[in-house]
Amino acid sequence: RPQFNYQKVILFPGDGIGPEISKAVIDIFDSAKVPIEWEFHEIHKKRVTEQGDLITEETLKQVKALKYALKGPFETPIGKGYRSINVTLRKRLQLFANVRPCKSIKGVKTPYPGVDVVTIRENTEGEYSGLEHEVVPGVVENLKIVSYNACQNIAQYAFEYARANNRKQVVACHKAGVMKQGDGLFLKVCDDVAKNYPEIEFSEEQIDTMAFKLANDPTKIDVMVMPNLYGDIVSDLCAGLIGGLGLTASGNIGKDCEVYEAVHGTAPDIAGKNLANPTALLLSGIMMLKAMRLNDYANRIENATYQVLEEGKFLTGDLGGKSTTTDYTKAIIDKL
Ligand code: NAD
Repeated sequence: RPQFNYQKVILFPGDGIGPEISKAVIDIFDSAKVPIEWEFHEIHKKRVTEQGDLITEETLKQVKALKYALKGPFETPIGKGYRSINVTLRKRLQLFANVRPCKSIKGVKTPYPGVDVVTIRENTEGEYSGLEHEVVPGVVENLKIVSYNACQNIAQYAFEYARANNRKQVVACHKAGVMKQGDGLFLKVCDDVAKNYPEIEFSEEQIDTMAFKLANDPTKIDVMVMPNLYGDIVSDLCAGLIGGLGLTASGNIGKDCEVYEAVHGTAPDIAGKNLANPTALLLSGIMMLKAMRLNDYANRIENATYQVLEEGKFLTGDLGGKSTTTDYTKAIIDKL
């Protein structure tokens, strides 16, 4: 649907429930007259590149050229086969930051109302650098890489995010008491970068203390920035605080481009049955619109979504309702 002045954006519908939840997002964005034009990229499982990837060089170039992409979940092969599409995108597009906002939704019952926390995770190195080997039988060495550049990128991004989103505090989470050099470097860089953002309150916390604080009273926490492994764990914990993976959006940010995605998987048990909850992908799309400075459209869709969830008349099965994906989508469109 080419339109004058519409910005092109990539859409990877993904596997399993991916096409159903993508259709919901497309219909809602259409109804809100969002000025974007989707460029669909289907991934063909049988077309593996020489490097073992499903995503071709042309597609990667196109993501960089268009800058913004929305991605449904992809099935990840275990053991052999092609490389995980998520890993390929993250590595090849150098998506160094993973951002996951978790905000309580009225109408979704959780132990803590009023959570509004953002996890910003270093996405490229740390414990997930992929460098491990067996030194002698029975002893494996797994290298945790911490580089000044990656720390600088993630720290700067965290403060820029806080500034752009009017957040008041950033806390760096680490274990520098034990990993004095690796996490120590991360902490020092965060501390240095913080000096350029005097309006944002900066603090630091050992990751275990932060785990306690998140369980004790998450409503007191604002933006957290942390290395890869801690971020992986804490971001899922925060999703649990607001009612689950079906409601949690995320963005993978690089210098050239940004890929937004729901954090859940392909949900093979409900795929093709019109039962999936599209909220996580929808909220990821809303994050993307805000990054594109289409805030008016983003806010309208966000308000309509929150209203439908709060009223609770059209909820999908994962939230205890009986509505189909299309009923829920229609309810949001009706609000718009
Ligand atoms: P999953 O997230 O697909 O499913 C876990 C449970 O949550 C299932 O019961 C499912 O029905 C439910 N669920 C998930 N999303 C839902 C939604 N939007 N609405 C309603 N219910 C929902 O996790 P899994 O079963 O461990 O993984 C299935 C596949 O997805 C695997 O191949 C895995 O590798 C892949 N995966 C991909 C991504 C990604 O692409 N980002 C992330 C996680 C898992």
